[in-house]
Amino acid sequence: ISVEDFVAATIERIQNVDDKLHAFLSVNDKSIDQAREIDKKIKSGQQVGDCFGMPISIKDNMCIKNSKTTCASKMLENFVAPYDATVITKLKQQDAIFIGKVNMDEFAMGLTTEFSAYGPSKNPWNIDCVPGGSSGGSAVSVSAFECIASLGSDTGGSVRNPASFCSTVGYKPTYGLISRYGLISYANSIEQIGPFTRTVKDTAFMLNKITGLDPNDNTTVDNKNEDYLAGIDAGIEGKKIGIIKEMMGDGIAPEVLSATKDAIAKLEGLGAICEEISLDMVKYSVAAYYTITATEAGSNLARYDNLRYGYDFPLEGYEFNSYISKARKKFGPEVTRRMIIGGFVPSAGHAGKYFLKALKVKSKLTKEINEAFKKFDFLIAPTVPILPFKIGEKIDDPISLFLVDINTVTANLTGKPAISIPYSISNGLPIGIQLIADSMNDKLLLQAAYALE
Ligand code: GLN
Repeated sequence: ISVEDFVAATIERIQNVDDKLHAFLSVNDKSIDQAREIDKKIKSGQQVGDCFGMPISIKDNMCIKNSKTTCASKMLENFVAPYDATVITKLKQQDAIFIGKVNMDEFAMGLTTEFSAYGPSKNPWNIDCVPGGSSGGSAVSVSAFECIASLGSDTGGSVRNPASFCSTVGYKPTYGLISRYGLISYANSIEQIGPFTRTVKDTAFMLNKITGLDPNDNTTVDNKNEDYLAGIDAGIEGKKIGIIKEMMGDGIAPEVLSATKDAIAKLEGLGAICEEISLDMVKYSVAAYYTITATEAGSNLARYDNLRYGYDFPLEGYEFNSYISKARKKFGPEVTRRMIIGGFVPSAGHAGKYFLKALKVKSKLTKEINEAFKKFDFLIAPTVPILPFKIGEKIDDPISLFLVDINTVTANLTGKPAISIPYSISNGLPIGIQLIADSMNDKLLLQAAYALE
């Protein structure tokens, strides 16, 4: 099969299913031409990259030069990126084909994709249910065979949560492993780009292509060109796994609990030693997470002011307040809520009570998890405590939505790598299991995930 035929078949698949699923915000109309170019290279005996002909979808908060990058917001509905994100540059060098930009919660704030200004994506396993989020379009496009892999971003679970809800693998690397250059920031101190694939091996393959130091992002770390695929079948015999008590308690759905117990039994069967561990600070993690992320978002989203980015209108005829309120009015309701929180919690007179307390929780939680990794190789918990729920079911109750993040935010606040692995299906709805490892143990984590898969 030629690359052109394969890409044409992928586009046909998107045309056939995406009306129902709404994973894509835009489809790359040059993808067939690009496929032809790759076929030409192959025919003439030229070298092609390892991702040749792989249709990959990209969450719409990563810049692809000369393509629209909307963050699923009306604020950026006409924004065309002037440069490539580092992950895009790296994948271009490998001859990947960016098949389209995919849906998300506006500016990556949410966990259902219902906060997209362009309407929600649907869960391919049950189109009445949410696909998770905020990288919902990424998960849907991989799960529904509309591409081979996707890139999303994970600030508090946005790769792992939709991966779990749509039955794909979703990976949040060690903080700094993948460059954020060209990723539109939400909460830059904790977020990472991460791949979605249908197998753990494909995730390892993607990491081989997109990780590493980047002079354009000084938070990146040197992984010395680690090969994440080599030795992926090493197994987990003798490895110690901590079962996080606080992520298995109140509020967990019985189906999710029994799937997790089953996964633990499977790991034990493979020679791992599993034991319960308590991470006391987890109970404050969601509150700390939303305090820190709203604060960073407040500052990161200040640039959408009509002067630098965003809604564009003539400057004349406004005094300061009416100007600002007009410039900011294209933000949707969830982003506006975060802006208000993000203005308040770090402000003079309140910072000690909210923002600084949240930072204390973050550092205590990091201490606790570092202690845990002295004893354990991995930690395990369900990725999400509940099953995918109906579209519209929780949209009016932001606090109950925030609490769904209880099992995912710890890895972000502490910078640890974490993966969601599709484990089982209950009443037609997927359940994912999460494994967490110590910083820079991404390779070991993939080995454990491969064993559990
Ligand atoms: N649900 C979380 C939030 O709204 C996670 C989002 C994310 O990881 N981008 O902040």
